Amino acid sequence: MLIDRFGRIHNYLRISVTDRCNLKCVYCMPDVNLSGSAENKNMSVSEIYEIAKVFSDLGINKIRITGGEPFVRKEIAAIFTNLSVLPATLAVSTNALLIDGHIDLLKNCGVKNINVSLDTLNPDEFLSITKSNSLEKIFSNIILLIENDFRVKINFVVMKGVNENAVIEAAGLTKNFGVEVRFIEYMPFKGNKWSSGKVYSHDEILDNIRSRYNIYKLQDEPNDTSKKYGITGHAGSIGIISTITKPFCGGCNRLRLTSDGKLKNCLFSKGETDLLTSFRKGEDIKQLIISGLTEKEFERGGQFESENIENRSMVNIGG
Ligand code: SAM
Ligand code: SF4
Repeated sequence: MLIDRFGRIHNYLRISVTDRCNLKCVYCMPDVNLSGSAENKNMSVSEIYEIAKVFSDLGINKIRITGGEPFVRKEIAAIFTNLSVLPATLAVSTNALLIDGHIDLLKNCGVKNINVSLDTLNPDEFLSITKSNSLEKIFSNIILLIENDFRVKINFVVMKGVNENAVIEAAGLTKNFGVEVRFIEYMPFKGNKWSSGKVYSHDEILDNIRSRYNIYKLQDEPNDTSKKYGITGHAGSIGIISTITKPFCGGCNRLRLTSDGKLKNCLFSKGETDLLTSFRKGEDIKQLIISGLTEKEFERGGQFESENIENRSMVNIGG
């Protein structure tokens, strides 16, 4: 089992399969971007499987595919198909723009849990956040996922002065749809122009929703990142991911593998462990994974003491 210095069991791996994306969300993609890493810098389809298998042997039993946008990688079908034989539940995070072409693939690979980014229901606001006119397509793909019985969570990054006015409408989606709409506090990454003044906090999100709806607390699970609430009379629920104002690191069970094969023991870790280079030399990466985990800090990579956080951009990490 993978256990860190603080006794936390790590059974959940998020694998980024690309640092490319078909949207340019302001909170995620730096302006300078980024045509994506060169192909040979990234893990190949078989390297993703072989490295994931080592994690699985070490006790990882939940894998989430992420990116960049996973479905822009042309070998995505082979990646899912290979990983589906491991004894781990498979999930994916996506902007859903291309997902209608992959419904059968996801069903055949046993994927049930799909997280979709959606930060507003207003087309103009969507354009200014993502630099894309694809709101309608994404929304119809979310409906398609629901109709096909996937468990859908909607991830909504709330930025003060940008989209906090869309929070109530997004929470309203839970009236008829059995989805969880998760409001995420804006987090700092390289090149995303974050400042603490742009964070719309957990308490502000809750007060905003309370001004319209009657909400009640739901039970959170030990490893949950979101604080969950129900809305009276609604089919779905809401969650708040409060990394900035109410961190939840005590129950962390997550590791990350970047598309270029580096282990990040925390979303905010400064250090990385290069698994891919060692794997390509034929070395045993088990010990590297274990020592990478040993270096994990208790909270947010140990980096939030100052505003100078050293990290990659989010699109390059894999959220
Ligand atoms: N392209 C996919 C998507 O959008 O879901 C997967 C990758 S994306 C990096 C994963 C998640 O990270 C998304 O839910 C996105 O909203 C979130 N994210 C990106 N930048 C963020 C930031 N600065 N603060 C909070 N969440 C962020
Ligand atoms: Fe792309 Fe997802 Fe980042 Fe938006 S949040 S730029 S969809 S990777």
